[in-house]
Amino acid sequence: MAVVRVGIPSTLLYYLYFPMWETFFQNLGAEVVTSGKTNKKALDYGVKEALADACVPIKLYFGHVLNLTEKGVDYLFVPRVVCLNHETTYCPKFLGLPDMIRYVLKDIPPLIDVRMDVREGTGALFRAYYETGKTLGARWQTVICAYGRAIYAWRRFFSLLQAGWQPPEAMEILRNKTRPRFPRKNTDLTFAILGYPYIIYDQFISVGLLNKLYKMGIKPVTAENLPWRALVKQRDVLDKRLFWTFSDLAYKATQLVLKRGGVDGIIHLTAFGCGPDAMLDKYMEMLVRERSSIPFMSLTIDEHSGEAGMTTRLEAFADMVRRKKGAVSCA
Ligand code: SF4
Repeated sequence: MAVVRVGIPSTLLYYLYFPMWETFFQNLGAEVVTSGKTNKKALDYGVKEALADACVPIKLYFGHVLNLTEKGVDYLFVPRVVCLNHETTYCPKFLGLPDMIRYVLKDIPPLIDVRMDVREGTGALFRAYYETGKTLGARWQTVICAYGRAIYAWRRFFSLLQAGWQPPEAMEILRNKTRPRFPRKNTDLTFAILGYPYIIYDQFISVGLLNKLYKMGIKPVTAENLPWRALVKQRDVLDKRLFWTFSDLAYKATQLVLKRGGVDGIIHLTAFGCGPDAMLDKYMEMLVRERSSIPFMSLTIDEHSGEAGMTTRLEAFADMVRRKKGAVSCA
């Protein structure tokens, strides 16, 4: 019997859950195909096909789905991820993702669009994976085993993030069982890079922000590198808690970074067309100004973000932080 090929778009939750999903499908006997790194073709596809007022990450998702369609997969894994922590929900664009894909894109492979919402009771997450396994015709014993291994893979992946690696690096470590050499030495500054993982870790859309920082002698720290228990336990300081999971996490990461100290600058990487960020960015800036004198900068990426513009802004920000630091240490 031919092996079923399952396509997973390499964007959005890919950066946090791919090792888990890959392990799950492989243990069901399926071949996992990814859409690969974001490139101009994926972006152009997305801009052409997605709804005009969608944010850049959602446009990109469309591009990745079309890339996978060209690769001839049997299924596309597009789960409807609603809530994974019992407290906040993912942005509405995540909730409507399978519908948007299905109704906008024609002639695509069937979607596996299981709903993941832990508020639906004990075992809700497992049921979503069980349903996925059934779609592929797997026996229940195989699904249970695949799910257990998937959870284990995700824990190993997450412990690498907590040890300071970024998701693409952690995936490489798991894949090759070797530690890649990244330019981690000789840094004189540390910047917290806050925002959504699918913007920060996408080399193309962030115009290689993290690598640029390393090259400039700056160590980037992201929310995934912060101690997770402390991060999620940050007290709500806003009158009303931010409703969306990633926005809530970015705000809590700002709180934690300010409490722990040890960073010389904070950069909020935001996407053009993001509704939640219209509020979050201002809240983050106000919090930083109110509680510290750490320099804060917002960088907005869109489909036209260029290398030169990004580099100029980063260099100017780093220069300003170095001068400020020098002035303080001389005083
Ligand atoms: S949080 Fe913002 S960037 Fe992310 S999917 Fe929603 S609207 Fe787009």
